[in-house]
Amino acid sequence: MLRKFSHAFGNLSISNKFLAALSLVLIFGLVSIAANLYITDYEKDLRDDFEESRQEIQLAYSLGVTVQRARYTETQAEILYLTLGTEESVPYVTDVIAIMEDAEEILEELKSSQGQDEAERETLDNIAETISVYKTTVNLLYKDYILVRGGEDTGFGGDLIDTLDAIGTYGVVDITDMRVLLITYLKHFSPDALMRLPKQFTALQTAIEEADLPDAERDELLALVDKARTQFVNLINGDTDIAEAFFTLSDTSAVVDTLVTEFIQNESEQQAEARELANDAADLRNTLTPITTAASLFFGLLAVYLLSQSIARQINNLADASRQIAGGDYSQRVKVSTTDEIGQLGTSFNEMVDKIEAREAELRQQAVELRIATAKAREATRLKSEFLANVSHELRTPLNAIIGFSDMLLMGMSGELNEKQSHKVNRLRENGTRLLDLVNDVLDLARIEAKRVEITHKPFSPRELAAHLTAQMEVLAQEKRLDFETIIDPSLPQTIMGDAKRIEQVIVNLLSNAVKFTETGSVSLKLNGNGSQDTWCICVQDTGIGIPPHAHDLIFEKFRQVDGSSSRTYTGSGLGLAISRELVQAMGGHIQLESQVDAGSTFTVILPLHTQPALLQSQLEQVRN
Ligand code: ADP
Repeated sequence: MLRKFSHAFGNLSISNKFLAALSLVLIFGLVSIAANLYITDYEKDLRDDFEESRQEIQLAYSLGVTVQRARYTETQAEILYLTLGTEESVPYVTDVIAIMEDAEEILEELKSSQGQDEAERETLDNIAETISVYKTTVNLLYKDYILVRGGEDTGFGGDLIDTLDAIGTYGVVDITDMRVLLITYLKHFSPDALMRLPKQFTALQTAIEEADLPDAERDELLALVDKARTQFVNLINGDTDIAEAFFTLSDTSAVVDTLVTEFIQNESEQQAEARELANDAADLRNTLTPITTAASLFFGLLAVYLLSQSIARQINNLADASRQIAGGDYSQRVKVSTTDEIGQLGTSFNEMVDKIEAREAELRQQAVELRIATAKAREATRLKSEFLANVSHELRTPLNAIIGFSDMLLMGMSGELNEKQSHKVNRLRENGTRLLDLVNDVLDLARIEAKRVEITHKPFSPRELAAHLTAQMEVLAQEKRLDFETIIDPSLPQTIMGDAKRIEQVIVNLLSNAVKFTETGSVSLKLNGNGSQDTWCICVQDTGIGIPPHAHDLIFEKFRQVDGSSSRTYTGSGLGLAISRELVQAMGGHIQLESQVDAGSTFTVILPLHTQPALLQSQLEQVRN
C-alpha cells in the first residue's frame, strides 16, 4: 500500500509534488483550526452554563431571601394580630401575600431559565408547591379563619389583657406576673407560659375569695376572673388552630429554605463543574494550539525537506553520471525510477549518452582510419621527396657536365668558335644554368619537406653579409639601370646567432625578385634592429610592378605566380618564395608583404634575435683568423 502510494507520488510532476505537500500542510492546519474552534465553542457553552448557573443561584438566593422576608412579615402580622387584633395585622398579611407573589415570580423566572435538569425541575416544582401551600395557609389563617372566627377587631390576647387590667384596677390582687406570662405566651407561643397560666387563674380566684371585700365588689371581681378564664379558654382553643397554622407556616418556610438551599447547592456544584470543564477546555486549547501549529510547521518542513532531498539526490546522480561521462566512461547511465520532470530528464540523458557512445565509437573508428591514411600520406610524401631528391641529384650531374662543356667550348678549348656557334653555345649554357637553378630549387624544397634541412646556429656578422650581398646584387641592378642601396640600422648588433647561409639564400631570392619585377626606380635592402631586442628584420623594397591584393598569400605557395600564363613576361619557377617562407619558418621567423600594383613591393623577414656578445665575438675572431 505504502509502496503503491510512494510510486504514485514519485510519478507526479515536481510542481504537483509541492502542491501535494502544501495541501497536506493545509489540511493539517485546517483540521487544527477546526479542532480549536470546536474547543472554543465548547468552552463558550460551558462558560454560558456557568453564567446561567450564576444567575440561577442569584435568583435562588433572592427567592430564599424573599421567602424569609415573607416569613418575617408574617410573624409581624401574627404578633400584631395576637396583641392588637385583626385590623392592625391585615396590612402585613397583604404584604405577605404580595411578597409570596414576588417569590412566585422569581420562581417562574428561575424555571424558565432552567435547562433540562430533571432533579432541579423537580426541586423547583416542589418549591412552587410549597409556596402555594404557604400562601393558602396564610389566606386560611388570616382571612378565611381568623377574620370569620374572630368577627371583631380585637385580638383574643388583647381582650384577655384588657380583662386582666380591669381586675388590676381594683388594686385587690397583683396581676403583674400573670400579665407577663400572658404576653410571653402571646409573643412566643411559649408552652411553659401556657402551662403556668391556669394555675394563675386559680390563684387569682383564691386571692379574691380570701380578700376582705364587700360582697358586691368581690362578685364583680370574680365575674371578671370568670370572664378572663373564658377568654383564656377561647384563646387556647382558637389558638390551637392558629398555632397549627403558624407551625404549618413555619414548616412550609423551612421546607422552602431547605429546597432553596438544596437547589443552590446543586446549582453551585454544576457551576463549579462547568467552571472546571471550561478551564480544562481552555487548557486543552492552549496546549493544542502550539502543538498543532508546531506539528503543521514540522510536517510542512519535513515534506519540503524530503522532496528537495529526493530532487537533489536525482540531480546529483545526473551530475555524477555527467562527470563520469565527461571523463570518458560512456557506460554510465542514470537510474530512472519516476516519470516526473527529473525522471524525463534522466531518460533523455540516457538516450543522449547512447547516442554519444555510438558517435564516439564511430569517431574512434574514423580516427583509426585517419591515422592509417595519414601514415600512408606521410609515407607517400616521404617517398615522393626522396624520389625528387634522388632524381634532382641525378639531374645535376649531367647538367653540370653540360654547363662545364659549354664553358670549355666558349673558352675555345676545342678551337675558336665563330659568332654563330658562340651564340648558340651561350644559349646552351644559359638554359643549362636555368635548369640547374630549377633543379636546385626543387631539391631544396624536397629536402625541406622531407625535413632533411638542418638550420645551423652560428655567429655571423649581418654587416658583412649585407656587404657581400650588395656586391653580388649591384651588378644585376646596374644591368637594369636601377638604383640599389643598402641601409643598416646602427643599433643592429655586430654579431648575430643564426644560419647565415640560409639567410643569404632568402635575401638573394627576395632581391632577385625585386630586380626582376622592377623596370625603373630602385631596389633597397635594409637590416633593422628592433626596440624590444628580441627580433631583427630584413626588408627588401622595390618600385616595381607590385602584387595585387588577391595574390598576397597565394604567391607563397609552390609553383604559384601572379601571372601563371605560358606567355608571361617574367621567367621563374614559382618556387623561390615557397622555399624562402619554409626556411624563415624553420628559423623561427615569418615573412610579411606590403604591396600595391604599379607602386612596388616590400617584403619584410622578421627573425628572432639571438646574441651572445662575449662568446660570439671570440668565435668570430677565431673564424676570421
Ligand atoms: P619566381 O620568381 O621564380 O616566379 P617566386 O616564388 O620567387 O617565383 O615568386 C612568385 C611570384 O611572385 C612571381 O612569379 C611574381 O609573380 C611574384 N613576385 C615575387 N616577388 C615580386 C616582386 N618583388 N614584385 C612583383 N611580383 C613579385
